[in-house]
Amino acid sequence: MELPFAESYKIKMVEPIRKSTRAAREEWIKEAHYNLFNLKSDAVYIDLLTDSGTGAMSDRQWAAMMEGDESYAGARSFYKLQDAIQTITGFSHFLPTHQGRAAENVLFSAIVKPDDVLPGNAHFDTTKGHIEFRKALPIDCPVEEAADTSVDHPFKGNMDLHKLETILRRYPQKRIPCVVITITNNSAGGQPVSMENIKGVAALAKKYGVKVLFDSARFAENAYFIKTREPGYAKKSIREIVSEIFSYGDFMTMSAKKDAIVNMGGFVAFRHEEDWKKCQMFNIMYEGYLTYGGMSGRDMSALAVGLEEGTDYDYLDGRIHQVAYLGQKLDEYGVPYQRPAGGHAIFVDAKKFLPRVPKEEFIAQTLGVELYKEAGIRGVEIGALLADRDPKTRLNRYPTLELLRLAIPRRVYTHSHIDYIAAALKNVHDRSKTITRGYEITKEMAIMRHFTVQLIPAR
Ligand SMILES: *Cc1c(COP(=O)(O)O)cnc(C)c1O
Repeated sequence: MELPFAESYKIKMVEPIRKSTRAAREEWIKEAHYNLFNLKSDAVYIDLLTDSGTGAMSDRQWAAMMEGDESYAGARSFYKLQDAIQTITGFSHFLPTHQGRAAENVLFSAIVKPDDVLPGNAHFDTTKGHIEFRKALPIDCPVEEAADTSVDHPFKGNMDLHKLETILRRYPQKRIPCVVITITNNSAGGQPVSMENIKGVAALAKKYGVKVLFDSARFAENAYFIKTREPGYAKKSIREIVSEIFSYGDFMTMSAKKDAIVNMGGFVAFRHEEDWKKCQMFNIMYEGYLTYGGMSGRDMSALAVGLEEGTDYDYLDGRIHQVAYLGQKLDEYGVPYQRPAGGHAIFVDAKKFLPRVPKEEFIAQTLGVELYKEAGIRGVEIGALLADRDPKTRLNRYPTLELLRLAIPRRVYTHSHIDYIAAALKNVHDRSKTITRGYEITKEMAIMRHFTVQLIPAR
């Protein structure tokens, strides 16, 4: 008999979590104004709000924390992290920051000016925010397949090269500080970008004299998908693939809270010394001195180990298997989601799931609240609440896809938790025809409303 898949770690420390009654959850979600961000974590049994900073560190990472060097300048921890970054990414220089958006802030302060244009496969929301904040224009060029959740395509995160070239041709080179490749493509559902596509983007960027930035939060998961899905890469190691990916870039921004499996941290890494030098002043102003940026010494030490562990094949195999397993269960139950299963999350297709809820009543949010009431599981809405209002007309924007993202924290939940999640979704799905009404807004902020919005059941 072929041995079944099993995790490449065992559990040394546990954190109790508690189930609750449906009646209690109905009360809590009402008090939270039907906004899942407002729930206390103690009111949540399985928390799939995000995979950011929610991973479980290993014994080696905790040991590294004890050895952290808290010297203001020239700390050993900095050099450990530098070694890990140089070895794994091939970039020669780096600046530590407190998280991914801080890395964007430091880099974009140096290279982005008003009226600039930054094409990409699909910018992450903080990246978009940092570009627009500087009065520059982020342009998404996803491939068509990304918008259809039922199409099975191995690299739905790819950039549309024709759209990219049109932009590179239309705007002068001096207005394009870089092309941004986000790996994996979070907005498209944690979907990977192929090496072929990365090469294609790099070739076009070179032709037009433009630099390439990797927004790299999930670069290791992306490398795993290249190894397992792209012809010619099956025999290459994750590390070889990672270093090939980054060989096509000029710099990278990293949210270490994702694939580097730490609770907080990030960095910008550079191929060219002059770019690194241009960013130093901003790092000192916004983050901290050059050899600690926004991190404690102990955090840099844990991050150095996390980069190694996060690029280990057996670890990644377990991680991706777990997400795929949830996908298989949902297939079995007929629950619609963005196919194929992504690297870090399952994106449930709420429009297909709740066909009777009108879009004006926030379909994915309605599903999120139902799932919480059903089983104490917290996901996050990627739909009209997140899409916010048009800045000019102030009308609600209704995106093509209404998704409920169930992000899976790294090394945190077991197979039985996944079974529980799938069963809860099945139960809600079984009665989805009876769910006809959603929610209406009673209070919202001018921007980023989804974090604090208050809702009541639609009347
Ligand atoms: C999380 C993320 C960021 C921002 O990082 P933070 O650590 O949350 O500030 C940027 N880009 C991508 C693709 C991300 O997933």
